[in-house]
Amino acid sequence: MSGEHVLVCVAWPYANGPLHLGHVAGCYLPPDIQTRFERAKGNKVLLVSGSDEHGTPITVTAETQGVSPQQVVDKYHEINTKALLDLGCVWEPNIDPRGVEFGGSLFNRTSDPEHHKIVSENFLALMDAGLFEKKIMQQYYEIRSDGGRFLPDRYVEGDCPNCGASGARGDQCDECGVTYEASELLNPKSKMNPEAKIEVRDTEHFFYRLDLFQNVLEQHAAKQQSVWKANVRAMTKQWLDMGLRPRAVTRDLDWGIQLPLEGDEWAGKCIYVWFEAVQGYLSCAKLWSKRHANTTDWEKWWKISKTGEKPRHLYFLGKDNIPFHTVIWPAIIMGLNHAEKGLDEKTPAMLPDIGDLHLEDNVPAMEYLMLAGGQFSKSRKHAVWLPSFLQKYDPDTLRYYLSINMPENHDTDFNWPDFVEKINSELIAAYGNFVHRVLTLGARMPDNKSLSSYENLDLCKDAMKKLEEIHHNITSSLERHRYKEALRHAMSAAQYGNQLLQAATPWKYLKDSDSTEAAQSFARLSFGWRISRFLAITTQPFLPFSAERLWVSLGESGDVAMVDWYSAIDWNVEFKWNSKPAEPLFERLDLEAILEDEMGLVDSKAESENTVGHSVKGGKKKKKEEKKMPEGTTYLDFETFMEVDLRVGKITSVTDHENADKLFVVSIDDGSENGRVICAGLKEYYSAEDMVGKSVVFVANLKPRKLRGVMSEGMMLAADDGNGSVRLITLDGDITPGSQVR
Ligand SMILES: [Zn+2]
Repeated sequence: MSGEHVLVCVAWPYANGPLHLGHVAGCYLPPDIQTRFERAKGNKVLLVSGSDEHGTPITVTAETQGVSPQQVVDKYHEINTKALLDLGCVWEPNIDPRGVEFGGSLFNRTSDPEHHKIVSENFLALMDAGLFEKKIMQQYYEIRSDGGRFLPDRYVEGDCPNCGASGARGDQCDECGVTYEASELLNPKSKMNPEAKIEVRDTEHFFYRLDLFQNVLEQHAAKQQSVWKANVRAMTKQWLDMGLRPRAVTRDLDWGIQLPLEGDEWAGKCIYVWFEAVQGYLSCAKLWSKRHANTTDWEKWWKISKTGEKPRHLYFLGKDNIPFHTVIWPAIIMGLNHAEKGLDEKTPAMLPDIGDLHLEDNVPAMEYLMLAGGQFSKSRKHAVWLPSFLQKYDPDTLRYYLSINMPENHDTDFNWPDFVEKINSELIAAYGNFVHRVLTLGARMPDNKSLSSYENLDLCKDAMKKLEEIHHNITSSLERHRYKEALRHAMSAAQYGNQLLQAATPWKYLKDSDSTEAAQSFARLSFGWRISRFLAITTQPFLPFSAERLWVSLGESGDVAMVDWYSAIDWNVEFKWNSKPAEPLFERLDLEAILEDEMGLVDSKAESENTVGHSVKGGKKKKKEEKKMPEGTTYLDFETFMEVDLRVGKITSVTDHENADKLFVVSIDDGSENGRVICAGLKEYYSAEDMVGKSVVFVANLKPRKLRGVMSEGMMLAADDGNGSVRLITLDGDITPGSQVR
């Protein structure tokens, strides 16, 4: 549907450190792809998020570094905002280039005084509606001459009551994983001030009555069963099955939103960070419309209209955050609706109706991206940081790798060899090379004719049908938040284009073009221009920078991100051409250089932080006990093996070697313009006729050598049983010549 109001909500990154690649894959890339896709379809998208700037991890960092919490969050808000923009995320401009009625984006921060104000108003509204209760809790208190303070759980350390480990936190032991009441901790000490005397004191707090929303949340969950992914269904069910209980929304801490209440008993208490940061989705929409549109415009993205039209709400987050978005935040939204109508706790909570704030339509939460087997973690210094990554590499290479490797249904892994491999052999070999061939061959038409003059769409009906099918598949995958699958479909258009060129062999006719064959071949090459245009439009949500470069190389103008999604398969679009020589879309990556660089960083970091954790694949060499090998086996380094470039080729002709009785001279289509020749000692086992047409596997980077006067470029793989039987390794289906074997 076009013209729909879509609210894209992105989990608020915690401003306590730079973003790492795990965050990007889990939370920040998927909503950007979705937003770009929705916009291309003509929908009106409002994108909201910002830095989560309150809470104890930030105050701990500040106290440890001897700076103020504000200095900590100012620093990381700036770093992370810049990194997201450098990654190509559409947080700027704030207003959609097509006009403010199409929405826009705001990357705000929870320290914004206007966010404080909105949260305080909501707090009072929920309190007046009777949706809070007050309870006395026990909390450690640090006694100091200057008055002392309550200690949040992270500020207390002691020995675990379960396993006895030292350094256990106030509420949880990292050693054995057990959680407990703070008062059960043995030998408790203030982390920041270990000499100080501490004791348990009573403190009064507000609790949100989640229990009042149990029934209505169960109804909502039932409705969402066919929409939610398995992980979302499972985690939500787990929460609802346990039964919801009131949850503390205030705590003893200075750094945060102060309680909007009079009275000394509330001094030094603030609104719990979980309760206010999640309201950022709403405050951010309100503030976007106040600052960049009309004051009430936010309602178009938040409220169910008088005629019953609903905006579509999508929430993007990591799996650790699921219940906050399927249970807690919906309960707050329904509480606000309840309060807005002047109802109180005596009336049962209801699902939203006309004029109400809307609930989520999907929470396509991601699993984790791991760093070579270990979870990315800010606190354990085990990460690849986004800002430093973007200083060194093309952002589209990261976007490609994280999309094709997105942790949609299970945890996935980031490792450098795989990164380099996927960029070089998929992104560059399939996509980059295809468009480059079209543009460079297209510039070499005989007699300086334009490529467009050879266009003959009647000859390309099959190709049109194929691309329409691929377009349908990409669209359908994106609508279901299957980003990996969608990008695979888009890349299949490049593979199809390569096959088309391989079959048409336009390079053969560049000098001899006066034949029907030449005209037919060039017609296919010119359709390559339309396939390239298709690729620019359909890869734009994933790879915005290279899509724009391609767009310009094709002779198109304007921003490819503003081009209608369906224009990719509009065959009536005018054929344009850019006469400037085409530049390759991407640069090949060099694994060795990258490993040298990155491993140095990881190792020195791990050592200086004294947190060895996991080493990165191919990185630190750990001394291991030698395993006993099977007889006759010599182990090979993984890196050494990865250097062998195995590829698929199709045998196009086989002739006898003039000077060697046992050798065939085999011509192979290896996906390149001229193919390659390999001399093979297979005469005893195959006839020439038997071999032609077979798809075989060959070593592509074996140093060429002359065999009795014929240069042999590589080696075909064959199995030899040692008893006189030799068979070629062949493929069990069709695949583009030149494809890499892994
Ligand atoms: Zn323990």
